Amino acid sequence: MRILYAASEVTPFAKTGGLADVAGALPAALAGLGHDVKVVMPEYNGAKDKPGRYTPRGNINVSLAGVVYPFDVHAGRLPETGVKILFLSNSRLFDRPGLYQEKGKDYPDNLERFAAFSRAILEVPGLLDWHPDVIHCNDWQTALIPAYIKAHFPEDPRFTGTGTLFTVHNLGYQGLFPASEYPKLALPLEFFTPDTLEFYGKVNLLKAGLVFADILTTVSPTYSHEIQTPQFGCGLEGILHERSNDLFGIINGVDYQRWDPAHDPHLGQPYDSRQLQGKRLCRGLLQKASNLPVEEVPLIGMITRLTPQKGVDLVIEVLYELMMLDLQIVILGEGDPDIHVKLNEAMGRYPKKLSVHINFDESLAHLIEAGSDMFLMPSRYEPCGLNQLYSLRYGTVPIVRKTGGLADTIIDATPSNIASGKANGFLFEHASSHELLTTVRLAVKLFHEKDLWLQLIRNGMTADFSWDRSAREYERLYRLAIEKAAEKSKPE
Ligand code: ADP
Repeated sequence: MRILYAASEVTPFAKTGGLADVAGALPAALAGLGHDVKVVMPEYNGAKDKPGRYTPRGNINVSLAGVVYPFDVHAGRLPETGVKILFLSNSRLFDRPGLYQEKGKDYPDNLERFAAFSRAILEVPGLLDWHPDVIHCNDWQTALIPAYIKAHFPEDPRFTGTGTLFTVHNLGYQGLFPASEYPKLALPLEFFTPDTLEFYGKVNLLKAGLVFADILTTVSPTYSHEIQTPQFGCGLEGILHERSNDLFGIINGVDYQRWDPAHDPHLGQPYDSRQLQGKRLCRGLLQKASNLPVEEVPLIGMITRLTPQKGVDLVIEVLYELMMLDLQIVILGEGDPDIHVKLNEAMGRYPKKLSVHINFDESLAHLIEAGSDMFLMPSRYEPCGLNQLYSLRYGTVPIVRKTGGLADTIIDATPSNIASGKANGFLFEHASSHELLTTVRLAVKLFHEKDLWLQLIRNGMTADFSWDRSAREYERLYRLAIEKAAEKSKPE
């Protein structure tokens, strides 16, 4: 199959979260199954300064509502995989310090930026004379693609029978804009109704994907059910429920080339499940890097966007009680400025037990995975979550809220799961600071039962979440999307 994979961020070129990790790894897994895959992303600030990666491939001009958007197209490869990636470059739209925002404020022209990018993607096949069987779109930034196919290419042989699959990585981000921006999309007025892109008087770009893509997926089975309920549906549960026959949950995989303690260039101290000595050394390195005393106490790590979704406020609520336990906590994250302030204040109060790094630091993230004994994810909702999967491989026992992908991947250390040798972490049911505290207390207690703890570590480290299995599921759904597209293009 020829697969065009469209994403607004791709590791290692640009990343704000899990989408980048997925977009940097799934295409390679698909190529490994024998498919012809090309990835397409915007060319952000600074990319041009890294020569050697790019060959010019021509230009694209798209015109939306009378505005012309010129793009230069450069071709490169995903490192270590050989998969082709196309960078669409328009300096007015994408030469900026941030991907979607700066200093916590969204760029005011995000609708225009990602509409132009999405529309330009549909000119790439013509430019390359390479026509995809399926286009895989991700999140609101590329959700318009199926709508543009329908509106701008009706009965065009270049796209008849091209399947579209749309993945929701996080329903909390919908690409909402004032209705007055709608004309800039150059879509027909009949696409601005409650059944299409309108959402309570606003334009909702994510809905374009939900309404017009042939197949919908999200990144775990549990989340695919949760989002059909008012509690998790963010107002879109109705349409998701309506399309439940086309909606599938596929758990993300892990790129073990990047995330494996046995050959992680960020560590300096490799280790594996048979030889854990290096992990202890990593804890010492992490303690030093975090200005914490180098001691034999359980160390809890967190790496997270600092937003209400991730439940950091629950940790802050019971911080005093946590700090009374014999443990240390290291937090790496950035996000809401008021959470920054609260965490920095807390670090001032407990400098020997709590270390907070407010920034985005890929290398430190690897060291935290390796040097921590436990990894805390008290998320209010979690579509898939990658850090708990990285933690498993790094022998860092996850303590997570039972939701979304966390519920699908972590097996609670209950007496029966321990007895059957399956447990790999700790789960708590509700987004409550009290339950979080009780669960951390239990984990700290079991940490001192050396044999049992070693069993938890080994269960995690030997689990296999490689991309291969998930890629095969996407392969099946691409075929389904193509069948549906063919069905639609048949004369009535
Ligand atoms: P989300 O996409 O909701 O942010 P995921 O768990 O799916 O959550 O993916 C988060 C990814 O971003 C992980 O690879 C994580 O290590 C990384 N990450 C998040 N915050 C930071 C940070 N401050 N520094 C480095 N990496 C981070």
